Amino acid sequence: MTMYGAIEAGGTKMVCAVGDETGKIIESTVIPTETPALTMPQIIEWFKKFDIKALGLACFGPIDLHEESETYGYITSTPKLEWENFNILGCLKEALNVPVGFDTDVNGAILGEMAYGSAKGLTDAVYITIGTGIGGGVLSNGKLLHGMLHPEIGHMFIPRHPKDDFTGLCPYHGSCFEGLASGPSIESRWGAPGAELSDREEVWDLEAYYIAEAITAVTMVLSPQRFILGGGVMKQEQLFPMIRRYVGQMIAGYLRTKELEDLNSFIVPSSLQGNQGILGALKLAIDAAE
Ligand code: ADP
Ligand code: ZN
Repeated sequence: MTMYGAIEAGGTKMVCAVGDETGKIIESTVIPTETPALTMPQIIEWFKKFDIKALGLACFGPIDLHEESETYGYITSTPKLEWENFNILGCLKEALNVPVGFDTDVNGAILGEMAYGSAKGLTDAVYITIGTGIGGGVLSNGKLLHGMLHPEIGHMFIPRHPKDDFTGLCPYHGSCFEGLASGPSIESRWGAPGAELSDREEVWDLEAYYIAEAITAVTMVLSPQRFILGGGVMKQEQLFPMIRRYVGQMIAGYLRTKELEDLNSFIVPSSLQGNQGILGALKLAIDAAE
C-alpha cells in the first residue's frame, strides 16, 4: 500500500498523520507547537518511521505560496515570533526527501471538504474557521485560490452593528471580521468565554450578524456554491439558523440561485468531525505525488 504523510500545522499543535489515497488515516500523533528547534525534529522523527511517498503541509500563516519566490515555503509575518521567517517547507523537504504539497491551513480544510466532506462535487466553496482567529480557505473554479498571497477572509472589513461599540481586537485593523467576531473578541466583549455564554441570546445574535455580513460579502465577490463553517465558536450550533436568516435578509432577494433558495445547504458545518484540515493535508500529499 502506498502511504502519504500529512501535517496540519497550527499555532498550538502540529497534527501529523499517515494515510492512504482513499483518505483513510492509518496512524496519527499530535506534537505541541513550541519553537522550530524543539518541534521540527519531533515531527521529522515521527515521519521517518513510515515509508511515505509524499507529504502534505497545511500551515498556519501568513505563508509564502509562490514557487518562484525566494521565500517560498516560509512562514512570513506570524505573530508567533519564533516561527517568523522560518522555512518550514524546506526543513521538511530536506529531512524527508519526498515531494511536499504546501498550502494554508484553511485551504487545506476546504480541500479536505472537497475531497472527502461537505464540498464533494463542488467547484466553488469556502471554508471559514471561527476560533482564536478567523480564517478562510477558498476553492474557486476547482482550484485552491492563492492570488497575490492567499485570501485573508478573517481580516476583511465588515460594517459594525449599529448597537455594538466594542473596539475590536485585531492588532492591525481593530474592528475587522476577526477583530469583531473571533473567540477572544466574544470573550473580551461579553466578559466570559463563548463556551460559558451558550444561553445569552444577544451574544449569538450579534455573532451571527457579523458572520452573515462576512458570508454575504464573500458571496458577492466569489460566488461560491457553499460555505462550510468550523472552529471552536461554531460549536454553538444555534448560530447556524441565525446566520442563515441574516444572510437571507442581507442578500435581500438580489441573487436568485438554487443554492440561495436552500440556505440550509448553502451554509453548513463540516462533516469531517474536525479532521478536515488533516484530510486536506493528506490530499495535498496525494496531489504532490502525481
Ligand atoms: P484555534 O482557533 O486556536 O485552532 P478553536 O477553533 O478551538 O482553536 O478556537 C478556540 C476559540 O473558540 C476560543 O476563543 C474559545 O473561546 C472558542 N470556543 C471554544 N469552544 C467554544 C464553544 N463551545 N462555544 C463558543 N466558543 C468556543
Ligand atoms: Zn484584522
